[in-house]
Amino acid sequence: MAVIGIDLGTTNSLAAYWKDQAVQLIENEKGEVLLPSVVGAVSGEGFLVGREAKERLLTHPEATAASFKCFMGTAREYELDGRVYTPMELSAMVLERIRKNAEYVLKEEIEEAIITVPAYFNDKQRSDTKKAAQIAGLKADRLINEPSAAALAYQMKYGAEEKTLLVFDFGGGTLDLSYVECFDNVIEILAVAGDNHLGGDDIDRAIGAYFCRENGLQEESLSLEDQAQLRKLSEQAKCALESQETVPMELQVEGRSCRAVLEEEILFEICMPIFGKIRNLFLHILEDAGSRVSQIDDLIMVGGSSRLPVVKRFLTELLGKEPVVLGDTDKVVALGAGAYAGIRQRREEIRDMLLTDVCPFTLGIGVLNRSNREKDILSPMIERNSTLPASHRSRFVTTSDFQKEIMVRIYQGEEYYVDNNVFLGQVSIEVAQKPAGQAWIEVQFTYDINGILHVAAENEMGERRQVLLANQTLSEAELRQYTKEMEKVMVPPVQQPENQELLARFLHEYENSVGGRREQIGAMVGWILSKLESGRRKEVRNGVETAKRWLEQLEIQRNMQEELLFDGELKEGSWEEEPFWGEETFWEEEPEKIVGEKNGGDEE
Ligand code: AMP
Repeated sequence: MAVIGIDLGTTNSLAAYWKDQAVQLIENEKGEVLLPSVVGAVSGEGFLVGREAKERLLTHPEATAASFKCFMGTAREYELDGRVYTPMELSAMVLERIRKNAEYVLKEEIEEAIITVPAYFNDKQRSDTKKAAQIAGLKADRLINEPSAAALAYQMKYGAEEKTLLVFDFGGGTLDLSYVECFDNVIEILAVAGDNHLGGDDIDRAIGAYFCRENGLQEESLSLEDQAQLRKLSEQAKCALESQETVPMELQVEGRSCRAVLEEEILFEICMPIFGKIRNLFLHILEDAGSRVSQIDDLIMVGGSSRLPVVKRFLTELLGKEPVVLGDTDKVVALGAGAYAGIRQRREEIRDMLLTDVCPFTLGIGVLNRSNREKDILSPMIERNSTLPASHRSRFVTTSDFQKEIMVRIYQGEEYYVDNNVFLGQVSIEVAQKPAGQAWIEVQFTYDINGILHVAAENEMGERRQVLLANQTLSEAELRQYTKEMEKVMVPPVQQPENQELLARFLHEYENSVGGRREQIGAMVGWILSKLESGRRKEVRNGVETAKRWLEQLEIQRNMQEELLFDGELKEGSWEEEPFWGEETFWEEEPEKIVGEKNGGDEE
């Protein structure tokens, strides 16, 4: 049973695992590692996940869902083929696909997945990510922040030198900044800041708006199809700027040929409002970490949008020095997650590593607001950026005479009024009946490294009520219901990696044959496809078994022919790739530090 690391990205997802003292990316049957995080419905035939679904974004935008990670944990729904899906369910389809591919490649069951999430994900988003994993048949007790994974990748590549890092993770829909200190094989995240709605998609939109301005077009009045074409054109032009200085853009709109030219200078100008937001986030994180730009040794660029030369230029100007690019910016997080999978399995060679984390948001309870009794205010219990695990205890008193109970309402967020924060749950406890302000309870918040929030309330009689809040897993009934719903829509047989591989082998035989043999193989492919697309399990199973028998026969025949050609001497060749990370040794230990355990003063 294996443990894998998964970067569940807004645009692409990918997986890695620890093998032979190195982290390795998991490829699909076509040798690709990036799986577009896109799900498409094919009327009456199930769902496509990945590249095939992404290709349908243009032709069937109404039946295809993308960038759903941006709406994880929200009420946003996607209607595909007459049924409504949540971002959690769509993510489950992506994870299911990754699990199956990994099981096929590793030839063993995947016991657990370490999934990365943006550091700024709130509890609901983290909880939904875990539920998505559960629906996909994966245990995901440990989520790690994407920038933490990137810092781990950096640490493993550059060794255990003392360094202060800023991880800049700029993806399709999110930007995450993490302030990290590395020393003695410890990676400590000291502060995080981010924006769940700032990424490469915004740059695409800005380029689209520029194109419309140049051509006197009103973007809102374009047809849905033209808008999708414009978005695609904008993204392509943006990506082309990685290797070209000038990129011509052209689009046919209502029979008119519209044109514009994109250049680095123009893009730099267009991106100014986006850079302004990035600059503000820098100020925010430096303030939270109590640091200055000059104290940062290296800025690590991660995420697809970090490939843009204008982004690098902006960061160089902001920092006064060049940022670090750790190989492929869109694979760094997965490599860190794969390394963490090794740590999780306590593999000897990577046991020497300690990864701490911080709570990215404030957790607290609602208390009475004397100036407006209708609007409770937040009393913070665990401040954002506290090192995890964190625990804090405070005493609260009653606000009415002879009050019978206190309802402890738990919130997450930075806002003054509780209504503007995220409500997580509540727990009620009886109190001694006394005049207002005389009866009390003590509330303890404990937030662990796995993102589980434990809230306990204790009254003066020593009675205790408690609740486990964050990232709860699904109940048995919920799980059964989801699994049943999901079974119907999981990867269709023809798309399953093992069947794709089978078909690829037939096609290989087809390419290498001529005449009657070729015709026969062509007919076999047609027959197998008809079985795989029959929509009936038994037909699919029998079809696959027959196909495997045929393939064995075909291969035996071909080997015999080859042996004849080589006069019986078959050449053997073996080639192994260098492991990515070399042979450094690391180990992990869960951090034991409990911070903030102090008795608070009376509060109302
Ligand atoms: P991620 O969420 O990290 O997978 O990043 C996806 C984002 O990276 C999308 O907005 C892509 O358009 C963008 N991206 C991918 N390749 C490039 C490139 N070569 N240049 C600029 N942006 C890119």
